[in-house]
Amino acid sequence: MDRLSDIGTIKALLARHGFSFSKSLGQNFLVNPTVCPRMAQLCGADEETGVLEIGPGLGVLTTELCKKAKKVVAVELDRRLLPVLKETLAEYDNVKVINGDVLKLDLAGLLAEEFAGMKVAVCANLPYYITSPILMLLLESRLPVTSITVMVQKEAAERICAKPATRAAGAISLAVAYYASPKVLFEVSRGSFLPAPHVDSAVISLAVRGQPPVQVNDERRLFAVIKAAFGQRRKTILNAVSAGLPVPKDLLLPAIEAAGLAPNARAEQLTLEQFAALANAL
Ligand code: SAM
Repeated sequence: MDRLSDIGTIKALLARHGFSFSKSLGQNFLVNPTVCPRMAQLCGADEETGVLEIGPGLGVLTTELCKKAKKVVAVELDRRLLPVLKETLAEYDNVKVINGDVLKLDLAGLLAEEFAGMKVAVCANLPYYITSPILMLLLESRLPVTSITVMVQKEAAERICAKPATRAAGAISLAVAYYASPKVLFEVSRGSFLPAPHVDSAVISLAVRGQPPVQVNDERRLFAVIKAAFGQRRKTILNAVSAGLPVPKDLLLPAIEAAGLAPNARAEQLTLEQFAALANAL
């Protein structure tokens, strides 16, 4: 169905299906006609690409992806949207809608089954209440995905894409930098959605790395150190890491020094290489 971002078309569609928005599922549907074609273009979907979409909603982005990709698999949690999607996606035969929670599906199995022999990209307007868990799941599972192009809250976009060792950096910036090379593509105002959320949004792209940029003996330790350091970001790494991890200061201090770091440095001053050196020294 075309003109799916037209408010009149959407309202008529929703009324026909007796659908009401669920705030708790993060249902803010795009009604700005320029955003989805742009996302579909920038995510690199082409005749050789399988695209995983998370939360198709009414199918406004899905239809644009179907026009470009070899195949689209869209995972939607709200089963009330299935009959709506059946109608809006009727003219496309390269799409499959799966009813489920993206955080609970066997994504590796799903991608292997649905996208055999294809390059795989993720493209979605994410449900904002689970932005970080979804991104970390996609990255940590080491799925065969080459790029992740997603809309998130503007503040989340800035945090996710912040360079390590800057004031804007947080634990998620370091974790994302380990797995991918992130950038903000464009901003989207709150008025582009129905209903309008209280915040603006941005589309970001994560180019997934083949190899992490640093080598660590134990990834879980690296992320535990990062989490502890940012858990109390105003404190020194000596205080924050010893408070967040079961490592006493008399063991932590020599590890910090062995990694070539100042004990009074703060999390937002450290690069990914420095966090890796500390995790390895522990
Ligand atoms: N793609 C549509 C658009 O751009 O208009 C809808 C985006 S809306 C921000 C987020 C969508 O994610 C909703 O359709 C919601 O039902 C769905 N959703 C929420 N939690 C989900 C989950 N755990 N797994 C899959 N889909 C989910």
